[in-house]
Amino acid sequence: EFRTPLTRIKVALEIPGEAAKKSIQRSISELETMINELLESARLNDAQGKLKLEKVNIIELAEDLITDYVNEKPGIKLIASQNTIISFIDPIRIQSALKNIIENAIKFSSNQSKPVELAFEISKENNLLISVRDFGIGIEAAEQPLIFEPFYRPDRSRIKTTGGYGLGLALSKKIIDAHFGSLSIDSKPGKETTFRIEMPL
Ligand code: ADP
Repeated sequence: EFRTPLTRIKVALEIPGEAAKKSIQRSISELETMINELLESARLNDAQGKLKLEKVNIIELAEDLITDYVNEKPGIKLIASQNTIISFIDPIRIQSALKNIIENAIKFSSNQSKPVELAFEISKENNLLISVRDFGIGIEAAEQPLIFEPFYRPDRSRIKTTGGYGLGLALSKKIIDAHFGSLSIDSKPGKETTFRIEMPL
C-alpha cells in the first residue's frame, strides 16, 4: 500500500510541469494519512493507559460531528433517546472512530435518497449503544468479519473510485476496544448496513 504512492512520486519526478507536481502532492498527503493512521493504531496497542478520558455529553459531540455531513449526499439524521447522555470517554478518539464509520456510510450510500441514521440509546444493562445505519450497497456476509482487518478492502476496483486504504475500520475497532466496548456489523448486501457500538457509559 505504501509502494503505490511512492511509485507515483518516482514517476512524477521524471516529468516536468504542474500536473506532475500536483500528483506528487497528492501522493504525499496519501502517505501522510496512512502513516498517521498506523501511528495512531500503534499507540492504541498500549490502549487504556493512553486514553484521555473525560465526562462528555456524547449527544452534543454527535451534533457537532454531523455538521460536517449534513450537506453531503445522502445526508445524515441524528436519532437520540434523550438530549443528554453523559459518558466517560476519550472524545477525540471516539469522534475519530465515529467519523470513519459515518464517512463510509455516506460514501457507500451517496446515491440513495434515505439519509444515514446515527442513533444513540442506553441499553438495559446501562451500556451506551451507538448505531450508524445506511441504505447503500452493503457488504457480503463472507467479507463482513474481514473489513476490520488493516488494509482489507473487498473490491479493489470499486475502492479505487471511493478512496481509502482499508485502515479506517481497523482503527475504529481499536478505539472502541480500548473503551472496553465492541464494534459489530450487520449488513444486507444491496439494501442496508448497520455498524453497532456497545460500550460502558
Ligand atoms: P476504507 O479506507 O477503504 O474505507 P475502511 O477500513 O474504513 O477502509 O473500510 C474497509 C472496507 O469496508 C471499505 O473499503 C468498504 O469496502 C467496506 N465498507 C465499510 N463500510 C461500509 C458501508 N457502510 N457500506 C458498504 N461497505 C462498507
